[in-house]
Amino acid sequence: MKPDTTGRPLGVFGGTFDPVHFGHLRLAEEAADALQLERVRWIPAGQPALRDAPRVGPAQRLDMVRLAIAGNPRFELDPAEVDTAQTSFTVPTLERLRQSGACGPDRPLVLLAGADAFAGMAGWHRWETLFELAHVAVAHRPGYAIEAKYLPPALADVFRRRFCDNPRLLRDTPAGRIVTFAMTPLDISATKIRTLLSKGLSVRYLMPDDVIAHIHDHRFYTEN
Ligand code: ATP
Repeated sequence: MKPDTTGRPLGVFGGTFDPVHFGHLRLAEEAADALQLERVRWIPAGQPALRDAPRVGPAQRLDMVRLAIAGNPRFELDPAEVDTAQTSFTVPTLERLRQSGACGPDRPLVLLAGADAFAGMAGWHRWETLFELAHVAVAHRPGYAIEAKYLPPALADVFRRRFCDNPRLLRDTPAGRIVTFAMTPLDISATKIRTLLSKGLSVRYLMPDDVIAHIHDHRFYTEN
């Protein structure tokens, strides 16, 4: 991780990325602008918690993210979760970042999540500890509202207490606030892409061409 000299927050973007698509890329790019992030650190999960095993292995998903973010100076890749065979949990991941030399305890960290992922946060391992480690920025996603009344009670309570409508305040403290941000609505999901690929249909314009070529070269997501 490169040391920061700007004082701006570091974005942290975890996901299964099975496979990575333009919804992920626009989320990270628009978060960088809206939240004035110094950069966004992409962290593909090794074995994701709380969902079925990914269709494609961790090293292959990491390769696809590497291809997708290549050439974007605001993006960087963190392979650490893929390198361990263990289940990836967000709080230990953030603890690892905090313990690393370049991040340390004081740098503002902003965990990026889509509205669907945020709505499930109260089921995450040690989820309340998360706000001691990072801010959370929630992106709008078609089909998912970000309102307290639609969240489970414990998360709704945390959302009301920690919500902050000024992203500039994220740089004032290392952790603890929740912001939301609008992104270009893209009704794209990895599930939809896997379905198209399994039927031999086109996924062009849903994800980067280099990633599509890589998928075809390696015959990922075919039916068998
Ligand atoms: P799947 O369909 O397999 O569940 P996914 O497309 O939701 O996958 P993930 O890797 O699970 O992709 O998502 C990583 C993060 O990106 C999550 O926080 C998720 O909410 C967010 N995200 C994914 N796609 C979009 C999108 N189209 N718009 C906004 N957020 C998104």
